Amino acid sequence: MSTLRLEIVTPERIVYEQDVNMVIANGVSGQLGVLPNHVPMVTPLKIAPIRVKKGNSEELIAVHGGFMEVRKEKVVILAEAAEQGADIDLSRARQAKERAEQRLASKNEQYDHKRAELALQRALTRIQTSGQ
Ligand code: ATP
Repeated sequence: MSTLRLEIVTPERIVYEQDVNMVIANGVSGQLGVLPNHVPMVTPLKIAPIRVKKGNSEELIAVHGGFMEVRKEKVVILAEAAEQGADIDLSRARQAKERAEQRLASKNEQYDHKRAELALQRALTRIQTSGQ
């Protein structure tokens, strides 16, 4: 089975660097399945898990926005933050979810709802990735 190189990079570290068979990512305008020899493109990503197929296994990686660049034999994802399932602190993500939900439910003007909505998306992405 042919492969492509997947690199996921944040300002802090290289989160993932492996040869894989397929990458399924959530672009802002829809889901994208990327196989080797895909046409080159760049797309912004949603805050969501990406799905990576490698041999018979499949894994999720939490990707918190950013961009995906597809080249012939390589996919590079640049994001503010990203985590593999094993690196996710589930109780921290659950606390972040609670906090964001309380802020969204609150009538208190001090909370920026857009910011709370994004924090909720990150927390849900981490919970989903960690429970894969
Ligand atoms: P929190 O409110 O818990 O800090 P957050 O969504 O505001 O969550 P980010 O700003 O997205 O956090 O991330 C800051 C750093 O902490 C990044 O390096 C990110 O990978 C890491 N991080 C955040 N939450 C978790 C988690 N639940 N498990 C592991 N790493 C996390």
